[in-house]
Amino acid sequence: MSDNSLRVIWVYPDLLSTYGDQGNVLVVERRARQRGLQVERYDVRSDQAVPTSGDIYLIGGGEDRPQRLAAERLRRDGGLNHAVSNGAIVFSVCAGYQILGHEFVNDLGQREPGLGLLDVVSTRGEGARCVGDVLGDIDQPLGLPQLTGFENHQGITHLGPTARPFARIRLGQGNGTGDGTEGAYNDTVFGTYMHGPVLARNPQIADLLLKLALDVNALPPTDDRWYEELRAERITAATTPA
Ligand code: GLN
Repeated sequence: MSDNSLRVIWVYPDLLSTYGDQGNVLVVERRARQRGLQVERYDVRSDQAVPTSGDIYLIGGGEDRPQRLAAERLRRDGGLNHAVSNGAIVFSVCAGYQILGHEFVNDLGQREPGLGLLDVVSTRGEGARCVGDVLGDIDQPLGLPQLTGFENHQGITHLGPTARPFARIRLGQGNGTGDGTEGAYNDTVFGTYMHGPVLARNPQIADLLLKLALDVNALPPTDDRWYEELRAERITAATTPA
């Protein structure tokens, strides 16, 4: 952080921003401002260089072709890898999550290299697409309440030895490998299949990103009634038979 101002970077909104993922950047901004922080937000289109001095980088999901274009451009640009080597925090969703790994299968059916920021490899699932509500228990050391979200993906993601599962699913498919895991993380880099947008449904995850950026253990409390109502509604909807 410089000058008490948090730099939030929304990576490639022109390619990666499905299912309301832009909501994630709005939630991070709002919760930072509620804590008295100044926020500088940068929306970085895919024809622009990714700044290397950001504090928090957010990346959304996307369709298969935009996902390939985004991976090509992010590899060529190198800014995100540079930022992470400087200690930046990254929170990625679905296609963005797959791009952060070692490789994924692109729209041409080919293995596409990722950025290698997470020790995960994504392949194309042979079964039905993973679509629907998800509930899970977030990895215990992160100390967060139940995860709620919505998934929609064909890819499945295998975790390597240095990636921790972000959550264990109670409902839904998550990483889709059948091992009960959902998402992955490693130090300051996070990936999840949860859309929703996930930070509106789980504002404590946004606070975790802020705490990591500020290097503090706690933040001033906020009035979270609206978020709690949304969470309760989504948990009820997910657990009530249609
Ligand atoms: N194209 C990827 C998949 O289907 C990601 C989809 C998404 O971001 N929703 O696995």
